[in-house]
Amino acid sequence: MNNDPASKAAALAPPCVAATAPLPEGPFDPRAIRKDFPILNVTVRDGKSLAYLDNAATTQKPASIVCALCDYYQACNANVHRSLHYLAEQATERFEGAREKVRAFLHAPDVRGIVFTRGTTEGINLVAGAWARRNLKAGDEILLTEMEHHSNLVPWQLVARDTGAKLKFIPVLDDGTLDMAAFERRLSKKTRLLAFVHISNVLGTVNPARRLIEGARSVGARVLVDAAQSAPNRKLDVQALDCDWLAFSGHKMMGPTGIGVLYGKVEVLEAMDPFLGGGEMINRVTLEESTWADLPQKFEAGTPHVSGAIGLGAAVDYLHRLGLDTIQRYEEQLAAYTIRRLSGIPGVRIFGRAPERSGAVSFEVEGVHPHDLAQYVDRDGIAIRAGHMCAQPLMRRLGVPAVSRASVYVYNLEEEIDRLVESILKAKEFFRHGT
Ligand code: PLP
Repeated sequence: MNNDPASKAAALAPPCVAATAPLPEGPFDPRAIRKDFPILNVTVRDGKSLAYLDNAATTQKPASIVCALCDYYQACNANVHRSLHYLAEQATERFEGAREKVRAFLHAPDVRGIVFTRGTTEGINLVAGAWARRNLKAGDEILLTEMEHHSNLVPWQLVARDTGAKLKFIPVLDDGTLDMAAFERRLSKKTRLLAFVHISNVLGTVNPARRLIEGARSVGARVLVDAAQSAPNRKLDVQALDCDWLAFSGHKMMGPTGIGVLYGKVEVLEAMDPFLGGGEMINRVTLEESTWADLPQKFEAGTPHVSGAIGLGAAVDYLHRLGLDTIQRYEEQLAAYTIRRLSGIPGVRIFGRAPERSGAVSFEVEGVHPHDLAQYVDRDGIAIRAGHMCAQPLMRRLGVPAVSRASVYVYNLEEEIDRLVESILKAKEFFRHGT
């Protein structure tokens, strides 16, 4: 067995120079990192350069993350935790190394509280299946907000249907913030769970997580945070938040698709039954019954997405390299620019004017259906999203069937927003005159 630390370090050396190259001194310049994202230089639609403004749906991946996946498959592909051979040891070390990176990323106290999932949706369903279904009953209440993504609504509708628990909602005010007075009124001893979106994928609103969690705690409720839109752009600290669970997706923070994380307090996860049964999650199995593996394996049945977890670890490294405060500051600045420029177009209405907001900017253009607009700007090489954004109840609250959404991230440029504005102005003319 080779236990020489130098040879181990060589085997685990980061595969890509791009991941570790220092950033230039001085104020953050997005141009300095765009070279890390080869896809940003592709041409689309008859040679148009790409302006990728659909980051709330998924972010682009720097070369270092693609290399981390490639390196795993080319250098140490093996199943984890099972075999004793060299490759299995290497794969397990990288996989568990990624878990430790995620623990530090969330400032979680214990690596046993980091469960790899397929993404935010699966993390929430895990809590719904393994905790709520077994602990809630008729008369209990689940408190959500009116601005939830379907991922943090439909699982609770299913729980409510099967347990008799009742769903309650914190309303959204006209400026896109939560009605906190209504929140206080809806809290009661019957509230067993508060599950809320940290940052709205439609309104960009950053919800007051600490205040919401303190309110829930005052009535003894458990708390789940949907961090799908906040993990990519700000420092999260699960100990300071004091939530019971927090879920996010790798693909929205430069990581691969199909991997995500459910953080849970160890004592809460310990008290829960497994979600899925199968290999990896057991300790002892007889024909009649089984006992469970220790955390976090109890919740990781079957072969995990090994390369995905390693890629997520590389994404965490990349985010740290840029600095989460830098990412947050730049995204806020670019979102403000986007709102300012869009507001200057006659007939444009912006949804969500919260004082604290992220890079997702939803809007409508008078006289142009969102789907038509998305198709029109796509001809100019600009990628935005149109539709209900997986938040149909919020669309109803806003009084629209669909919206257009431009969502920016740390590699976007003001000139891409200028291109969007120009294209919208042309679209307005086109749909007015049909030319
Ligand atoms: N929650 C929010 C706020 C989201 O924006 C999304 C995805 O858009 C999700 C949950 C679901 O994430 P995933 O599809 O990666 O599970």
